[in-house]
This record gives sequence, C-alpha cells and structure tokens, in this order.
Amino acid sequence: MHELSIAQSLVESVRTEATAHPGARVVRIGLRVGDLSGVEPDALKFSFDVIVRGTDLGQATLDVERVPLRQRCERCARDFPVVEYALLCPDCGAPTRTVGGDELQMTYLELE
Ligand SMILES: [Zn+2]
Repeated sequence: MHELSIAQSLVESVRTEATAHPGARVVRIGLRVGDLSGVEPDALKFSFDVIVRGTDLGQATLDVERVPLRQRCERCARDFPVVEYALLCPDCGAPTRTVGGDELQMTYLELE
C-alpha cells in the first residue's frame, strides 16, 4: 500500500523534527497533498493512525490540505484550477502546463 510507506516516512520526518524540541509533544501535523500526487488523503490518515497508535505520536492529528490541480496557459498566462481534466485554457483555448497539484509536503508541526 502506497500510503503506508508515505505515512512511515512522514512519521520519521516528524520525529526528526521533534527531536529539536525535547519535552514537547506533537499535537498537529499539517500536510499538503496535491490531487496529482496519487495519494488518497483518507488512506494516508488511516495509515498514519495505525503507525502512531500507542506511540509518543498517538495523540497527534494529521491535518491534510488537498491542493487541486492547477494549470497555466502558455499564451495568456492565465492560472486556473482544473475541473474534470479540462486542460485547455478557458479563455483562449491554448494548451497549458501544470503549475500545482503534484505536491506532497509537510507544512507545519504544532507542538505543545
Ligand atoms: Zn489562455
């Protein structure tokens, strides 16, 4: 399962990050997941919960922010979110390129 290995590396990053703050407890982890990243947020949250259950991170909440696919027009530079895989520019019909939606990154770590 793809999400399980992603959740495992996320937990490792969180632990590495947390060692810089001895005595602090991780309460919330922010993660940006692009629609193009191939990651299913619910499966990722489930995997995360299974991995941290009963550990020092057992009380931490994973806060997933979905990032829609965004394209930019090569001709008129318009930037737009993609709906139903319509990849041509809604203004001029020119081909576009992907400018967002493939990210998978930790955005914040809330400690207490
Ligand atoms: Zn255009």
